[in-house]
Amino acid sequence: MTSQTSIAVIGGGAAGLSLALKLLGRSCEVTIYDPQVGSGASNVAAGMLAPASEANFDEPFLADIMELASRYWGTFAPEIADRAGISIGYQPTGTIVFGADAGDLAYLDRASKYLISRGVSVEPLTLRERRKIEPLLSPEIAGASYISGDHQVNNRLFIKALTIILEKLGATFIPGRVSAISQVASHVELQSDLGTDETRSFDLCVIASGAWSDSLFRMIDRADIATQLLPVKGQVLRVTADTNYGPPSHVVRGAVNNRPVYMVPRVDHEVVIGATMEEVGFDTSQRLGAITDILADATRVVPSIRESSLFESNFGFRPGTSDNLPVVGHVSGGIWAHTGHFRHGVLVSPFTADALDRAIFNDSPPDWLKETSPNRFITDKLR
Ligand SMILES: Cc1cc2nc3c(=O)[nH]c(=O)nc-3n(C[C@H](O)[C@H](O)[C@H](O)COP(=O)(O)OP(=O)(O)OC[C@H]3O[C@@H](n4cnc5c(N)ncnc54)[C@H](O)[C@@H]3O)c2cc1C
Repeated sequence: MTSQTSIAVIGGGAAGLSLALKLLGRSCEVTIYDPQVGSGASNVAAGMLAPASEANFDEPFLADIMELASRYWGTFAPEIADRAGISIGYQPTGTIVFGADAGDLAYLDRASKYLISRGVSVEPLTLRERRKIEPLLSPEIAGASYISGDHQVNNRLFIKALTIILEKLGATFIPGRVSAISQVASHVELQSDLGTDETRSFDLCVIASGAWSDSLFRMIDRADIATQLLPVKGQVLRVTADTNYGPPSHVVRGAVNNRPVYMVPRVDHEVVIGATMEEVGFDTSQRLGAITDILADATRVVPSIRESSLFESNFGFRPGTSDNLPVVGHVSGGIWAHTGHFRHGVLVSPFTADALDRAIFNDSPPDWLKETSPNRFITDKLR
């Protein structure tokens, strides 16, 4: 590939835009297809950059990737804010993790031991310490710890900042949904729903369409990949904290009766409260039971949340995969993939974009990309 390479990125969420930024850094001609940039999960997400509190015991590789991605954000966040000329609400203020009752606390203790074995700093908090650093936390909860390495960003400002920079760098935005992909000799042709005349040819294209990526893989007859992807719905609320109490001063997350809940405070008194994890396809209803559960759990942990005013109830579709790993790498011919970031796409996308960019340009790509290869799903039968 050369700097003259023309590349289409299909999808304008955290994954597509982060990759487009890397490609423009190589002076490629970059075209981003999306009927509405930033309208997918990246708009709904809470923006937690939480490699520790999101780590699962049985997923050490993913935990490593999240840890590396979190370090990447340390320099990436100020660079993006500076280049866009806006704040992106990056707050390295740490996270309080709690267990509401004895069972939840037992899980928190086990998770803490695992994290400590990975070298993560987890500080158990006494009731007195909890009162001091997060006075809004209910004294009734069974226990809590502080994780200094889990941060947050305002994902909406992040997407806005990326869009500003990409426009400055000369990216082309096409407000169409890609409806067909074909490899024609050494080129990739894309058709969009803007009309049959709207067929364009590129050297390469990258599927970065989040939870909708399965339909793109089907367009190129790659059912082996498409069937391993699934949307995982998340319902989430946005409130404005009451001025008398204010929002919590840290991200607060944990479990109430084994049900996860989090509160993510922004600098402007907004608090994001979430979220469900539902495998219900692209169901666009907002289930009242989910909303009342989220609110009941949140108010049990931070009682003053009851005084907040609700300004948004929303849902998004996480791009899930059968093994919870992202789908990042070469598919075939001129087609690449940057998708499947599931619950961690805001955290991980800038880091995986950097790796994919290096793979596309054969510029010392990291070895771990073989674990995220889209072709890992090919079964012996299909080989
Ligand atoms: C409730 C909730 C909370 C979350 N919280 C966090 C969090 O705290 N931290 C974190 O790291 N992650 C979080 N996530 C996960 C994160 O939001 C996703 O992993 C990430 O946003 C995925 O980015 P994406 O660009 O792949 O997908 P999306 O943001 O969904 O973008 C995909 C884009 O592709 C476009 N598209 C689809 N089909 C086509 C087509 N045919 N042609 C052109 N364009 C197309 C869509 O319009 C969309 O804009 C959360 C997700 C949810 C739902």
